[in-house]
Amino acid sequence: MTTQVQLFINGEFVHSKSEKFIPVTNPATQEVIAQVPCTTPDEMEHAIRSAKEAFLSWKETPVSERARLMMRFAALLKEHQADIADIICRELGKTVEDAKGDVWRGIEVVEQAANIPSLMMGETVENVARSIDTYSYIQPLGVCAGITPFNFPAMIPLWMFPMAIACGNTFVLKPSEQDPMTVNRIAELFAEAGAPKGVLQVVHGNKEQVDVLLHHKDIKAISFVGSVNVGQYIYKTGTDNLKRVQAFAGAKNHMVIMPDANKNQVVNALVGASVGAAGQRCMAISVAVFVGAAAEWIPDVAAAIGKVRPGVYTDPNAAYGPQISPQARARVLSLIEQGKKEGATCLLDGSGIVVDGYPNGNWVGPTVFSNVTTDMAIYKEEIFGPVLNTMTVNSLDEAIALVNASPFGNGTAIFTASGHAARKYQHEVEVGQVGINIPIPVPLPFFSFTGWKGSFYGDQHAYGKQAVRFYTETKTITARWFEDDMAATGPNMSINLR
Ligand code: NAD
Repeated sequence: MTTQVQLFINGEFVHSKSEKFIPVTNPATQEVIAQVPCTTPDEMEHAIRSAKEAFLSWKETPVSERARLMMRFAALLKEHQADIADIICRELGKTVEDAKGDVWRGIEVVEQAANIPSLMMGETVENVARSIDTYSYIQPLGVCAGITPFNFPAMIPLWMFPMAIACGNTFVLKPSEQDPMTVNRIAELFAEAGAPKGVLQVVHGNKEQVDVLLHHKDIKAISFVGSVNVGQYIYKTGTDNLKRVQAFAGAKNHMVIMPDANKNQVVNALVGASVGAAGQRCMAISVAVFVGAAAEWIPDVAAAIGKVRPGVYTDPNAAYGPQISPQARARVLSLIEQGKKEGATCLLDGSGIVVDGYPNGNWVGPTVFSNVTTDMAIYKEEIFGPVLNTMTVNSLDEAIALVNASPFGNGTAIFTASGHAARKYQHEVEVGQVGINIPIPVPLPFFSFTGWKGSFYGDQHAYGKQAVRFYTETKTITARWFEDDMAATGPNMSINLR
């Protein structure tokens, strides 16, 4: 019998009473490794009610205690990094090194959440008017919810609930139904770290369960990471229901290569950033824009990418794993075919790749196109597979115009030896995260993850100071204490403070 993934409600792991289940498969073999339940309406209600009740005492828990919970949690995550990574390998197929990185980038956010006392400091001004002081406090919102994608099953949930809970909120998390077991292990460690009952709940399922969160009156804020269409739906529906929403969506990230860049660095960066993690990263480089003479390097880039092979996580030579599902693989393959039909040159075609011993895996080999134009589907759509488009332009200005015309704005990079070119690029490009000789510039959590344009809907971003603003309200107090003998001055009929 396959394992049934449990719900985590009010501090307990419980089997759902649902009759609807979604199979969780090993993407390298199609073996069903678990069944994830579609949480019932009653169970959803129970989870939200438990979070609402837990909020009453959790918001009164001293901030230093909340910080200590995060310190213990970070320590447990470090101790169990390898076993969490092992779950990621089994349900998502990432290589061991990449899966450990997934956990590590999440641990860094938990470490940041342990700094919550200083992050929650308000502001004070003495004597804003005679004998009147103004000061502000930052207070939690209540029950917050998170909806996460399949591609970083540890890191992205950890972007959300540790910061929200450290701020004094309670949380309901709905992870991806495609790899739900990683979050359950993380929730187990959170409980072991001493999280009180009801502070975190994990519910499973898909659209139906998300819709409950989007419409429930007791959910105050929604954090979402996932694809463009769903992100827009979440933002529109959540805000329509008067909730605070941050929705991180899809991307198409460009790397600009100047002719003065170091060629070996460019080639290495492009191999890892384009096909690493099977291209299933929202910050993957999917378009390489070669400026002027740098275009001569395109064949070398294709040759270097051609040397890497996908494989199973137990194979130390595998550079990356399979696509998450047969549907995801079919979509990538059909976009590759469309690219060929629309006139792009396929320099390296990974559609027919075979991985020995794993004939049923969702494999796509590394693929590189040249002569790509902006009207082609391979340029316009997020492929989310190991496919790199290469393009050529004559100048940095042309490269910037190309990148700025894209509807997305998650990440970008420039490779150059020129400080002037780098500064011009960082200043003029309309993208929220810029790497200078860094291909995947995901900021560490004392900054925030600041995607722009069609890659983000909302105002405050994930982690860092912006997450604290997202998960809290500011309360501003204006106070006067009368001296006993203060003369009464009569009523103040104006709005002025005096
Ligand atoms: P997805 O949008 O299919 O699913 C994300 C979550 O939304 C899942 O929990 C899923 O159950 C839920 N969901 C799916 N369809 C829904 C619907 N119709 N209504 C309500 N909820 C629904 O995304 P995915 O395939 O799991 O993840 C890949 C996508 O995530 C890519 O587009 C990638 O770029 C994006 N992503 C973005 C970032 C970022 O920071 N911008 C980071 C990681 C991934």
